[in-house]
Amino acid sequence: MTAGLRLGIDIGGTKTAVALVSDDGTVHALHSAPSGRGPVDVVDVAVRLAREVLEGSAAGPAVDVVSVGACMPGLVDPVTGLARHAVNLEVESLDLGGELSRRLGVPVSVENDVKAAALGAWRLRTSAEGPVPRGDSSPALAYLNLGTGLASAVVRDGVVVRGIDGAAGEIGHLPVGGDAPCSCGQVGCLETVASGSALARLWPEPRRRARDPFAAAAAGDLLAAAAVDVLCTGVGLAVQVLALASGAERVVVGGGLAGLGEPLLRGVRADLERRGRSSRIVETLGLPERVELLAADVPVAALGAAWLGSVRPGTVRPAAGHRVAGTAGTAGTAGAAGTTQSTADAARTVVPTGERVG
Ligand SMILES: [Zn+2]
Repeated sequence: MTAGLRLGIDIGGTKTAVALVSDDGTVHALHSAPSGRGPVDVVDVAVRLAREVLEGSAAGPAVDVVSVGACMPGLVDPVTGLARHAVNLEVESLDLGGELSRRLGVPVSVENDVKAAALGAWRLRTSAEGPVPRGDSSPALAYLNLGTGLASAVVRDGVVVRGIDGAAGEIGHLPVGGDAPCSCGQVGCLETVASGSALARLWPEPRRRARDPFAAAAAGDLLAAAAVDVLCTGVGLAVQVLALASGAERVVVGGGLAGLGEPLLRGVRADLERRGRSSRIVETLGLPERVELLAADVPVAALGAAWLGSVRPGTVRPAAGHRVAGTAGTAGTAGAAGTTQSTADAARTVVPTGERVG
């Protein structure tokens, strides 16, 4: 039996991924499937994958899981467990924490997907290098998610910075100029120059002869060249804003556009160097060295979800040694018969460990 594993459930707009991980970032199992649509299907898919992972894990069927966490898009309240306004998943309101806890038979911590990814990126970095205190010795990491939109979050000392409304660190809807209308109703948001939708607008489908705008630009596609220039400048600005506003020592870029790889990172660093050449103050920030790109194959949101239970203070967590695998199977059967242990009962059967990792 492998001890001390954590289960992370990432319910994305297109696919749901469930990972079984250890605290050093090793992924012991990873299953994914297209996400469900609507509250019932969304939970069904997540639960099915969770059971598959636990029962089919190379670590063996008697997996010792110390925490379970889940994340999804939209407004997710980690205290009440409620998820709201996940438009792509056709979820207006869902008791995500409650439903998953009931079906899996253990408490499940929940978080917004980008905030979970930020936590995953922070944990991966500290696992690899350990915290590197600088300045006020409170190392922070900013995560910039370049998907269809632009979302971001900041993690400080292993805790997601939320602010009073949970929107702290969300810079995508900061108006920065330009006349492009944004999905939020404003004009000229950062998202309109640094996101997948920005790229699609600037380099529209009918004009594309390649999939990769950097490759197209290198092959002489002037529209693609202009589009990647705007994109890299926009991402550079996002990095500068995050670094200045949060003091984060690292800005990690993830999301679908991170798959563009090295050319994107080179372009963003070139933009940050340009900014440094025009300002001594900006130059001293050393921004080009502080930005990095997440490898496309890292399930960072699932990792972050898995680690939710290890870093949030004040929540009930399964004690080490609590066996999820067996409970999950029986919980499903009991659920069908309508006799599932309630979330409150499940919470009473476990002991808060007060453990804090990282
Ligand atoms: Zn906006």
